[in-house]
Amino acid sequence: MTAVVNPWIKAYLESGTVPALPDGHLIDGKVVPSLSAERMEIADPGTGHVFMSVAAGGAADVDAAVASALRGFRIWRDTAPVERGRVLARMAALMLRDIERLAFAETVTVGKTYTESCNNVRSAARTFEYYAGAPDKLQGDSIPLGPAQLGLTLLEPLGVVAQIIPWNYPITTFARGIAPALAAGCSVIAKPAETTPLTAVMLAQLLCEAGLPAGACNVLLGLGTVAGAGLSAHADVAHITFTGSPGVGTAVMTAAAQHYASVTMELGGKSPLIALADCDIEAAADGAVAAIYENAGQICSAGSRLVVDKRIHRALVEAITVRAGRITVGHGLRGSSMGAINSRRQMERILAFLDQAKTMGSTVAFGGARHVNSIDPDGWFIQPTLLDDLPIDHPCVQEEIFGPVLSVQVVDGTEDALRAANSTRYGLMAGIYSKDIGAALALARDIKSGQVTINNYWGGGVEVPFGGVEQSGFGREKGFAAVASYCRTKSLVAKVPYSQNARV
Ligand code: NAD
Repeated sequence: MTAVVNPWIKAYLESGTVPALPDGHLIDGKVVPSLSAERMEIADPGTGHVFMSVAAGGAADVDAAVASALRGFRIWRDTAPVERGRVLARMAALMLRDIERLAFAETVTVGKTYTESCNNVRSAARTFEYYAGAPDKLQGDSIPLGPAQLGLTLLEPLGVVAQIIPWNYPITTFARGIAPALAAGCSVIAKPAETTPLTAVMLAQLLCEAGLPAGACNVLLGLGTVAGAGLSAHADVAHITFTGSPGVGTAVMTAAAQHYASVTMELGGKSPLIALADCDIEAAADGAVAAIYENAGQICSAGSRLVVDKRIHRALVEAITVRAGRITVGHGLRGSSMGAINSRRQMERILAFLDQAKTMGSTVAFGGARHVNSIDPDGWFIQPTLLDDLPIDHPCVQEEIFGPVLSVQVVDGTEDALRAANSTRYGLMAGIYSKDIGAALALARDIKSGQVTINNYWGGGVEVPFGGVEQSGFGREKGFAAVASYCRTKSLVAKVPYSQNARV
């Protein structure tokens, strides 16, 4: 167990005391209850027990949040770009100041380890830092139309933007969507997932402290089918950035289409980590373990399929199982190296996949069951799991499990690896491990995926555009492309007095 440094962790573990955490929507700069007074319970996945409740928004709260965001938009849109950048820069600093409180709240709602939560806060602060440099560099073009006309493009913010956020990375997903939208001059309404509402409100409070005008960032809590659906259908919402499952993404697109809102869809994945025969086996094993067991595998871009050449199959699986055996599973505040599954429902969904694999006679090379923790026996834990040598049509190869389950596909050579890698309906991420950079680059070109990394599964950062193809979605977040996605282009053509004689 690591030394306890955070006073909230100490109090929580010793007496169950929860620090004062915001429990309402954040609308017009203030934390407010639901107009209907409805509430929903919040559980700690590491204990499996409810520890607080928060507001659950209905139709009237959706309307209040949108009205606030419309008021906030008019102020924020007209704020000088340099000042918009300063607010985002101050936000980055405030997040690092409050890292202990934010990381505590993230861990007790998501279930991830405190170390992961701290890393997420740092990464989200870096996102605000990156976009702080954007507002005063957003420039349109001049278009050559000859001397009698002036042609320009102006970049205008879209307006009110809804951000619908899943439960696996609440802090980083908030930052990834909201920082570029604010940089572009939009106002935002964040709708965090039912189980992880706290840190979105805390972050919006910090934005207010950083100098963001009231109404420019609102947080609406509540059920997806009520608050999320209400936001998606609201005629005054100009754009929806949705991060979540493909089925709900389709519902959001359908609602957005009724009022011509644009959408960014960040959906699921079943991403391959390809280990070619010549790869560094130790490096590939490290990469594979990080790719699937971080955040207990609840990552859209997790490397959930190991596509391995038959010549190194046994050696690589052995190296991964040795590493999986060193993983300690337990409450994220107790110094474990892998935390909990976010909800009982998600844990049971993962266990159903594992039961199905066992029924089909699949090889469970490691784990394969619920992890029962003696300190937190009701916690929602799953053992790090490795299912070996699965056929292409196996459900654990084709379906996103969203848990710590690595599915192995054995292949013969590079062509076969490409065929296996491209064999699902998803296309979010792919990792390639090989010493032959030419072979790796050729694979990277041919893989169906929004992003590819070579010899470093989690390579890159906020600077690199991120998004999917096919069932993994469309649109790009991160990078400068994200700011552009929150702007629309207005073309302006002016007739200019022109006389050939007047020109020298
Ligand atoms: P989910 O689709 O159930 O929920 C996502 C969000 O949508 C939540 O805030 C939820 O309240 C809301 N929602 C639910 N029903 C809604 C409706 N009818 N209308 C509007 N909003 C609604 O997803 P989840 O279970 O929270 O997250 C897991 C999924 O998210 C996985 O499929 C995962 O791959 C995906 N994900 C994708 C990315 C990415 O960047 N591509 C990142 C993280 C998670």
